[in-house]
Amino acid sequence: MAYIKLSKNAFFHNLELIAKKAGGNEKVAIVLKDNAYGHGLLEIAKLASEYGIKRAVVRNTAEAKEIENLFDYILILADAPQQKEKFHYTINSLEDLKRFPTGSHIELKIDTGMHRNGIVPDELEEAFKIIQKRALNLKGVFTHFRSADELSSELFWQERNFDEVKKRSLELVKRYELPKPLFHSCNSAALFRKQRIEDDFARVGIAAYGYLETDEIFKSPPLKPVLSLWARRLSSRVLKKGQRVGYGGVFEADRDMVVSAYDIGYGDGIFRAQKSIVDGKILGRVSMDNIIVEGKQDKICIFDDAKRVAKEIGTISYEVLVKLSPNLARIVCE
Ligand SMILES: *Cc1c(COP(=O)(O)O)cnc(C)c1O
Repeated sequence: MAYIKLSKNAFFHNLELIAKKAGGNEKVAIVLKDNAYGHGLLEIAKLASEYGIKRAVVRNTAEAKEIENLFDYILILADAPQQKEKFHYTINSLEDLKRFPTGSHIELKIDTGMHRNGIVPDELEEAFKIIQKRALNLKGVFTHFRSADELSSELFWQERNFDEVKKRSLELVKRYELPKPLFHSCNSAALFRKQRIEDDFARVGIAAYGYLETDEIFKSPPLKPVLSLWARRLSSRVLKKGQRVGYGGVFEADRDMVVSAYDIGYGDGIFRAQKSIVDGKILGRVSMDNIIVEGKQDKICIFDDAKRVAKEIGTISYEVLVKLSPNLARIVCE
């Protein structure tokens, strides 16, 4: 069976760079949504916890429950609430505020310019009124940047909007006699663009896994890819000159050659458009569960740098990683 290798050394190296930039382990929330960006939720959660990270961000309650014992704080980005002290539920709209039961631990997402989710700054006062009236437990106020990876002034514009939101939130908690909420805003790209962060912590996903998709002009920190994808040989044969291999027979041998089939395909989450692997290329079409490669090695590395694959097929590292099937075995190595 094809499998994924996770490098503990690379992951810890990245966390060290991130924690240094953020100002300590306690200022880092590791983003584990979508099966930890394809790396394996539990495997990565255990490693992050072993490193000393206490905060995690996930998409839903099911994910939160799987890692509940490993973190002190878990922010759930989009799900209906259940009463659990350390699960904080994201409020994506004013309607959410009316839906969540009294006592829910919530964090207000503020739309400071991305216009995807969250309440707008003008709704802040209304939100606080509902929070007090419905006795919801306000734990945090946060935002998300739409262009932290691009060279433009957009990040600074959104940051200024969020500064204003923080100021008003502090006035409002005083007025409504609520405890001071946590403030957070930076993703990976924003964290590495800033000199230092004034928020309580940063929400870091892709950088922990070894990538940044920022414009070339920004000096990238020396992050290391954590994941490599491997396949095992199923069978080998000699392809005679002129014989064609795989669906549609699109690859034709221009000489006698030895080829092997390996146990990975688009069913495992690799893309049909991928043509090259670490030491060679894919001959003909990618099947659901097979690819054909020249030679006879027992194992081959499909990729150890998701950005290279992303470039080849015209996407971003995030997409290459999250597509990896949860059914692939994850093996943690040093
Ligand atoms: C996915 C996500 C992040 C992490 O973004 P990266 O670019 O992977 O660091 C942070 N915050 C929110 C709200 C997200 O949805």
